[in-house]
Amino acid sequence: MGKTNVLTADYEQLQTDIITLHEQWLERISENQMIAEPHPAKYEYPVIPGLALSINYQQYKQFIIELLDLLNSKQPQTMEAAKGLPALLTEEMAESWFHQAISMNSFYFEKFSSEYNIPQWLPFFAAEHAVRPYLQKAAAELREQLKLADHSHGCPACGEPARLAVIGKKGKKELTCPRCCYSWEEKKISCAQCGNDDHDQMLILKIEDDESMQIHVCKACNGYTKVVDTKRLLKKDHPAILDLKSIHLDYIAQERGYGVPGSIETH
Ligand SMILES: [Zn+2]
Ligand SMILES: [Zn+2]
Repeated sequence: MGKTNVLTADYEQLQTDIITLHEQWLERISENQMIAEPHPAKYEYPVIPGLALSINYQQYKQFIIELLDLLNSKQPQTMEAAKGLPALLTEEMAESWFHQAISMNSFYFEKFSSEYNIPQWLPFFAAEHAVRPYLQKAAAELREQLKLADHSHGCPACGEPARLAVIGKKGKKELTCPRCCYSWEEKKISCAQCGNDDHDQMLILKIEDDESMQIHVCKACNGYTKVVDTKRLLKKDHPAILDLKSIHLDYIAQERGYGVPGSIETH
């Protein structure tokens, strides 16, 4: 299988800058308790979309504006068509965006874009990225409860379909969510989509000239998981960057008819 790097350097730099923003935002909300006590007696998975979160929507709006500023500095021409967006973002609108982004309602954002004549991809992209620090904070607060979760249907914290696993220093395989950064340990040979761990039904696709990456495909459900051995990488990347750097694995798996159910395109 050929190794194809489909990312342009500019695009990778933009994603890295966005992750730097995520990290600053996370720092700025670090004092806020996101999940109100007491916790519910029983959790439904994924947990976060069903919880009442304590959010400052002005601050969420501010994160969106900062992201738009970053995009503006990189792609002023594209962003020309979105000049009116900050004025549309009232606090009430920011609150709707927050909830629609948490539940990954791409339809809501497509409708919004058409209604206000804004580039189709932009509102969802901005709303989703600005929501990530809150998801990361909430997932961190829920760490203990999440250990009890059933992992067979994607990320137990935020609901993102599981597609990326990393093998760390100790050789353990951890599924990692590029959205909320929650990670959980899984058997070496197992399907992240259906939980199948029958070795005869799991196939490992190797990538030519790259021993750090593999695709584990499942003949039971036709799902796949990208597995990145981080011991072989020079530096430890953020899960969202690893997800992006391994995007050629998604293409290879999808070309062969494997998929990740419910997957949305946010990068
Ligand atoms: Zn998640
Ligand atoms: Zn499966």
